[in-house]
Amino acid sequence: MNGAPLADNENTLRESLLFTTRQLTDKGLNRGTTGNVSVRLPADDEAAFLITPSGVPPLEMSAASMVRMRFSGEHDGSVRPSTEWQLHRDILLHHADAGAVIHVHSPFATTMACLHRDIPAFHYMIAVAGGDSIRCAPYALFGTQALSDFAIDAMTARHACLLANHGMLAIGRNLPHALSVAIEVEALCEQYWRILQIGEPHLLSDEQMQEVLNRFKNYGQWQSP
Ligand code: 13P
Ligand code: ZN
Repeated sequence: MNGAPLADNENTLRESLLFTTRQLTDKGLNRGTTGNVSVRLPADDEAAFLITPSGVPPLEMSAASMVRMRFSGEHDGSVRPSTEWQLHRDILLHHADAGAVIHVHSPFATTMACLHRDIPAFHYMIAVAGGDSIRCAPYALFGTQALSDFAIDAMTARHACLLANHGMLAIGRNLPHALSVAIEVEALCEQYWRILQIGEPHLLSDEQMQEVLNRFKNYGQWQSP
């Protein structure tokens, strides 16, 4: 994944964060107050990122209720940030090319996460998650540094991972890209679940997946520098 964080102004980012958070509910990836989303602020901003408020259903969120946070963990205003702020903060610190982070409790990714199953290279689109597998991070209590530490490991050289007994994490260059990664990972988990009803998939080899990963570097309209 390549690209600098978006140079949008804060109000545009607040609106995009709200739109993306509602999209996750509309597309069935979240419901109620499950999941959370963050977006990196421009490099010249004194704060580091905006994150969704804790425990608020997306229809009750507003652009103004998105919380401005620093990498130190301090936040502006009286609205409490998502309980997963450490997870979002640490992902943004470890993945310099990520402009946005999405966490969901989507049905099929969560099913696989409850089985503690890594998703192998059963389909070439696994490469959307950055490598030849989608790892499942071990279980830790939601909203803890332990969960973040496990997720950081599982996200090494990856754009998505499962969180055991919990859900899924996806990153992207910006919010639309992170949303597309989350949607594709959920679709892959559904396909894998369906395959397992019938048998075991034929997996792509390391060489075949390396070919896919190379091809993805210049896929579509995005050129890697
Ligand atoms: P928040 O409402 O605090 O973001 O928590 C939801 C969640 O998914 C915790 O993992
Ligand atoms: Zn969660």
